[in-house]
Amino acid sequence: MNSRLAQRQAQGRFRRIRDLHMISSTCGYDRQGRRYLLFNTNDYLGLSHHPLVQAAARRAVTDGCGAGGSRLLAGAPFILRELEEELADFKGTEAALLFSTGYMANVGVLSALPQAGDVIFSDALNHASIIDGCRMSRARTVVYAHMDMDDLEKKLQHESGGRRYIVTDGVFSMDGHVCPLPALVRLKQTYGAVLLVDDAHGLGVLGKSGRGTAEYFACHDVDIHIGTLSKSLGALGGYVAASEAICRYLQNESRPFIFSTALPPAVAAAALTALRLLRAQGASYVAQIRDHIAYMCRQVPTISQRQPPVPVLPILTGSSAAAMQYAAACAEAGLLVSAVRPPTVPEGTARLRITVTAGHTPDELRRGADILNEQGEKATWKQ
Ligand SMILES: *Cc1c(COP(=O)(O)O)cnc(C)c1O
Repeated sequence: MNSRLAQRQAQGRFRRIRDLHMISSTCGYDRQGRRYLLFNTNDYLGLSHHPLVQAAARRAVTDGCGAGGSRLLAGAPFILRELEEELADFKGTEAALLFSTGYMANVGVLSALPQAGDVIFSDALNHASIIDGCRMSRARTVVYAHMDMDDLEKKLQHESGGRRYIVTDGVFSMDGHVCPLPALVRLKQTYGAVLLVDDAHGLGVLGKSGRGTAEYFACHDVDIHIGTLSKSLGALGGYVAASEAICRYLQNESRPFIFSTALPPAVAAAALTALRLLRAQGASYVAQIRDHIAYMCRQVPTISQRQPPVPVLPILTGSSAAAMQYAAACAEAGLLVSAVRPPTVPEGTARLRITVTAGHTPDELRRGADILNEQGEKATWKQ
């Protein structure tokens, strides 16, 4: 362990936890009382601290702090079903099923649905929870080049036999790329594959009303929507939105669903209230995020994508050490951004990952941009 950790340290890949006391969705204090502006959360709509969301969670605590057991074993708070029904309605599917996290939703679907003899086609940059779900599946996994539809088609032609599954992030969380959904749908139709889209970063951000990647492309032939309640909905939990048959199957066969305790009522109440806010005001949230993205891209020329549709803004630094030093310099100046390094991203593409949210004020956006520029210019690590 020690030599592996030392190796990590030498490669600039050592991971540390920073304790933070959050006082709003965009601001927190560390243990020394230093105040930080946050450009590193996935709380894209700022709903984690919305007064109505907090009030709903507080009220639901009277139903108990924990659910008391798994959904199947102990029975489940009514609110979980209500949340599933509203999620299904929002995503336009027959049904939905909750998991304890988005990670578990991916592992839960991919380990249960594809069978021995089937093939899962997975984008090279898919989220770790998809990769782990593929590893736990009895099906074989074929990885296609990132968003490369020619490569995917070649691989679909080459593999026959069992059922074919195509799985992709809707929005790739480290680059802000949106998957080429219309082309994926064409391929899935041509080859009779089942299409799974993990829209953890699309919900609340993409599409006219924030319904996600499918709405963004007006392209709705997705068989299984996977998502999380922990990003734009500001709470915790994962979901699968799909046909009644698929949800009933998962309820019987998916081990992360069966053998893990149900979400606490307060968490579900927070997510449900956040979802209702998104339904009521989705268009204005989406417009606000778009404005904030445009502002940051104008102010910070080193952001590597010019007009990204999602608020994930990478500044590539090349080496891991450079990303670490840049992030540390920003933290010193009172701004928290993430340094993302291999193996989370491919070799040679270490970066700062900056996220803007609808919750940032104009003044916070200005300060964030200023610090990024100042520290970027001072940088002695630049090539
Ligand atoms: C964050 C994320 C997850 C995991 O969701 P959690 O609810 O945080 O476990 C899954 N897939 C993608 C693409 C993600 O970005």
